[in-house]
Amino acid sequence: MGTIDSLPPLREVIRTHDLQARKSLGQNFLLDLNLTAKIARAAGDLTACDVLEIGPGPGGLTRGLLAEGARHVLAIEKDRRCGPALAEIAAAYPGRLTVLEGDALEIDPAAHLTPPIRVAANLPYNVGTELLVRWLTPPAWPPFWQSLTLMFQREVAERIVAQPGSKAYGRLAILAQWRAEARIAMQLPPEAFTPPPKVSSSVVHLTALPEPRFPAEADVLSRVVAAAFNQRRKMLRAALKGVAPDIEDRLIAAGLKPTDRAEQISLEGFCALARAVAQT
Ligand code: SAM
Repeated sequence: MGTIDSLPPLREVIRTHDLQARKSLGQNFLLDLNLTAKIARAAGDLTACDVLEIGPGPGGLTRGLLAEGARHVLAIEKDRRCGPALAEIAAAYPGRLTVLEGDALEIDPAAHLTPPIRVAANLPYNVGTELLVRWLTPPAWPPFWQSLTLMFQREVAERIVAQPGSKAYGRLAILAQWRAEARIAMQLPPEAFTPPPKVSSSVVHLTALPEPRFPAEADVLSRVVAAAFNQRRKMLRAALKGVAPDIEDRLIAAGLKPTDRAEQISLEGFCALARAVAQT
């Protein structure tokens, strides 16, 4: 176990504060501080940034983020049992850690953060995907965050970075890659966590692009991509029938073959189609 700070080892913290992992909260803790420091480094240079951490739990990643020099960490945790352990970290890093108790899906963190802002989290997978989609679909771009460094089960991580022609390619890939640069930064086996989950995990790092890679209206792109992948085995002319009555003409106008399937269409192709669909 690492000694990245003067606080007690995480196993001791968990014993002292009686933080037995709860399945209902998706609690699989990272107890190796060298590993959490490595994840914090994957988030980029933190020294001039505020960091939003969701689900700090006993604080392994929080300590990594602070030890790596984060200017300020705002941590949102649903499990109130973690409060005292997190208060000890706040005391060891005076003025640099704020903890909010609550559900990250219901708290707007923006008011508590000063740009530039990076996000780092090891979250239950369902909450992570929901937050990722929200962070990727704000009303205006660029978003409040500069980068997202998030733990996912490997299968979800592969969907985020997937390229055309692969089974993993779908809505999540388009959403993530249209306005961000997405890559897998680390792979973690189940044993990295306590208790170990059933599947392997990956840390995904996303950097917000200043503007979308290709022009398109977000809601039209989202509608087209959803319809195309909802029936991914069908040819586009059939899968997209409900999107526009003259969809075949619009596919051709976008430079796509009406007989192609969603899996074969690049991000650029989908954006061209969204523009063709938006045209009156
Ligand atoms: N970051 C810690 C670590 O790496 O050891 C804990 C990771 S554990 C996978 C997920 C954490 O997210 C737990 O502490 C859990 O209580 C918290 N959590 C679960 N759902 C949440 C929600 N909706 N909002 C905020 N925190 C949540």
